[in-house]
Amino acid sequence: MNTKWHQQNRMPRQATVEQRLAWHRAHQEHCGCRPAPKGLLGLGARPRAGTSRVQPLPAQGLLSFFQLLEPRMVQWLTKLINTDTPSDQKQPLDRLATWFAGQLRSCGAQTEILQNQEAGNHLLARWTGAGARRKPILILGHLDTVWGLGESQRRPARIENRKLFGPGAFDMRGGLTLVLALAKYLATHPSELGRPVTILLDSDEEVGSLTSRPLIEAEAQRSEAVLVVEPCLPGGALKTFRKGVGRFTISAQGVAAHAGVDYSKGVSAIQELAHQVLAVYKLNDPAKGTTVNVGVIRGGSRSNVVASQAEMEVDVRIAAAAEGERLTALLRGLKPKNRGASLQISGGINRPPMERTAKIVDLFHRASALAAQIGIELAQGETGGGSDGCFTAALGIPTLDGLGPDGAGPHALHEHVLIESLVPRAALLTQLVLKL
Ligand SMILES: [Zn+2]
Ligand SMILES: [Zn+2]
Repeated sequence: MNTKWHQQNRMPRQATVEQRLAWHRAHQEHCGCRPAPKGLLGLGARPRAGTSRVQPLPAQGLLSFFQLLEPRMVQWLTKLINTDTPSDQKQPLDRLATWFAGQLRSCGAQTEILQNQEAGNHLLARWTGAGARRKPILILGHLDTVWGLGESQRRPARIENRKLFGPGAFDMRGGLTLVLALAKYLATHPSELGRPVTILLDSDEEVGSLTSRPLIEAEAQRSEAVLVVEPCLPGGALKTFRKGVGRFTISAQGVAAHAGVDYSKGVSAIQELAHQVLAVYKLNDPAKGTTVNVGVIRGGSRSNVVASQAEMEVDVRIAAAAEGERLTALLRGLKPKNRGASLQISGGINRPPMERTAKIVDLFHRASALAAQIGIELAQGETGGGSDGCFTAALGIPTLDGLGPDGAGPHALHEHVLIESLVPRAALLTQLVLKL
């Protein structure tokens, strides 16, 4: 590699598509380094050389296509932000699934709405492509957001400094927008699809995918690889490692009594729970990546009553499946400290960790090489948040997560998508679907 050229000519972090393409043209012309060896494409390897000197940029057509589509993408994203679909509201979720199905059908997909009595319906869409016998690529997304009904009326989509703000913008209206853009590409270039592609949009990801998990796992089992259009890391890095997530409820029972008349006859569930809160926090082990958080606590009825009942909700994050089993055993084995008190413990590990297996690393390397062909420098990183990608990775299906557009603030008031990232991320997703 011509290190000097790279030192003087770093690709800017927030580069526009034009800047990225210009960087690659200059790179081909002046640097002359060979494509980086596989190992260099991994975590933190930068600057990197993506294309060889003699190769033209074969997939520039993708970028031009999506550049023309950018105004439509902004319209779709705006519409999606202004459509509230909290995980517990079946009707709005069903309406969105139906709308999405119509959009994808008009782009040549076969669609199926999976009726769901417990939550919103889920949506499956398939394109067969020329290589019908090859295993499909599975794209995963979710239709629900963490925001309640009426949120988008209070805070409708708005653009400021080329950032599109609004409820759910980053998680994951942006990712859904890319799915629509991909569909438009497939509608106009059907012959480029070398293998089938399946899109699964579920309606309960934000509450743990309880009803969609079997569907996600069944589709993943028959797929070559899984691409998850969740938010990316800042700057566009993919997520190739996610912590697993557990949720537990620990409730304490005591004996109610008058706090003045019969104090000694009472057993305080609140005092018991206080012991347990401290015991639970002792399970934190930052070196192992284990975190335990008591996020909710409630109990008692009045200040002059010894409380007979109290409970806490605990969030657990683990970096390895075995650690999840160890923690589950410890939490379920908690014993009351106060005589006369008792404990009830429910819950468990809800999402396994997405461990960075050799298969996932290999898929990332292949994706990096394909991204380089369209002038995109791909990085990878990790997050403490779980996603549906955790289920598919745990089954051993190569999974790349964080393929949504760039932005910030998932689940937060400043949540937004960088408009500038829509074109390159749509091109990236499409490139992977066509070439992986
Ligand atoms: Zn999400
Ligand atoms: Zn989320």
